Amino acid sequence: MKEIKGFKWCNKLKQCGCKLTLPRQGIITFLTKNPVKHFTADEIYFELKKKFPNIGLTTIYRTLELLVQNGLLSKFEIGDGKSRYEISADTTSADHHHHLTCIKCGKIINYNNFIEEEIDLLKKIEVSLSKQHKFKITNHVIQFQGICHDCK
Ligand SMILES: [Zn+2]
Ligand SMILES: [Zn+2]
Ligand SMILES: [Zn+2]
Repeated sequence: MKEIKGFKWCNKLKQCGCKLTLPRQGIITFLTKNPVKHFTADEIYFELKKKFPNIGLTTIYRTLELLVQNGLLSKFEIGDGKSRYEISADTTSADHHHHLTCIKCGKIINYNNFIEEEIDLLKKIEVSLSKQHKFKITNHVIQFQGICHDCK
């Protein structure tokens, strides 16, 4: 049987003891369909409104926070004051990527053609940080800022 998009994530949410409400399911399904894109809460609200006309922006914000707290989504900012969300793809997954963000136009370039040194270095940093701070690292969001080719 073909795996339904988002199925794994919905299960993960249930494992965390959270009820699988329609907005939660809707957000997970929408974001797993677009794993390499980055949406603001407003954009997610706009999309979900098509399917759930009664949904409110507050519900969207609350649901997004809950999904972040349970490790299903990553939240990050690119400097325009708006939080962006994406499915939290763990480092071994094919969707895992890092960002190059343009400070002029806000473009986000994903890359996952990591050089070996980058992967090795990150592993070393994670081991050392976990020890130093007795902190269990579950994922990371790596972002480099600068000026893109079009804005130069
Ligand atoms: Zn991303
Ligand atoms: Zn990474
Ligand atoms: Zn740019």
